[in-house]
Amino acid sequence: MNLILLGPPGAGKGTQAKRLEDHYGLKQISTGDMLRAEVRSGSEIGQQAKAIMERGELVPDAIIIAMLAARVSRPDLAQGFILDGFPRTVPQAEALDVVLKEKAMPLDHVIELQVDDDALVERISGRFTCAKCGEGYHDSFKQPKAPGICDACGGTEFTRRADDKAETVASRLEAYHRQTAPLLPYYASKGILRVVDGMAEMGEVARQIEAILGTLPRRDKDQGQDKG
Ligand code: ADP
Ligand code: ADP
Ligand code: ZN
Repeated sequence: MNLILLGPPGAGKGTQAKRLEDHYGLKQISTGDMLRAEVRSGSEIGQQAKAIMERGELVPDAIIIAMLAARVSRPDLAQGFILDGFPRTVPQAEALDVVLKEKAMPLDHVIELQVDDDALVERISGRFTCAKCGEGYHDSFKQPKAPGICDACGGTEFTRRADDKAETVASRLEAYHRQTAPLLPYYASKGILRVVDGMAEMGEVARQIEAILGTLPRRDKDQGQDKG
């Protein structure tokens, strides 16, 4: 099963992708996470991307497409994948079609998470993440069960993204509406676009997505498969 989760920044793509990865062994492919790793490592791509990301603009298609093509060439996608944050422009979607066709990996569903802009600002400004394992949290909507301790790994350090501040959120939303929203008719015309109410609480959003996926073999979260 190969999916795209499509939606504006803060819509819940990462939250739902991680859940699908845990439950079904589908691999989350987040171009935002990949870019942040490049920035941390100080690589050439990271150096090019850093300032662009801090302004809330999109990194050039050529960089992103090369990164994505390399990622889908790795041999760990047998159960399928979830693209989170890619594609974000029509040229990226067209390049994806070419790459997936070459590899005979068809897209099954493109799932749009619909969330109002006002709610997105609140979600992004309250977002924080476990520094050790990457588990996502929110000041109002998902606090760790024990204050200051990650539910997933017991870690006690948390981080907030440099671009999750009010000034940057406006340009990210603008980039979404101008450059990414045109992907909705692109995939609708292929007959694979499905819409989910992303305003619902996390568990309900997950149920709506599972209803679209139908019956998939579940796997236990702790079977020790690598999370790549
Ligand atoms: P995206 O990957 O689309 O940018 P995230 O999954 O990181 O979004 O979610 C943004 C923030 O909103 C996180 O802090 C997350 O905990 C929270 N969140 C995710 N889904 C919901 C939801 N359905 N209701 C309320 N908060 C949510
Ligand atoms: P969010 O879902 O909260 O917008 P992401 O982690 O997906 O955040 O992306 C963070 C930033 O990384 C984006 O604002 C953009 O600068 C860059 N980025 C991520 N994916 C792409 C992409 N597919 N194309 C261009 N830029 C991207
Ligand atoms: Zn953790």
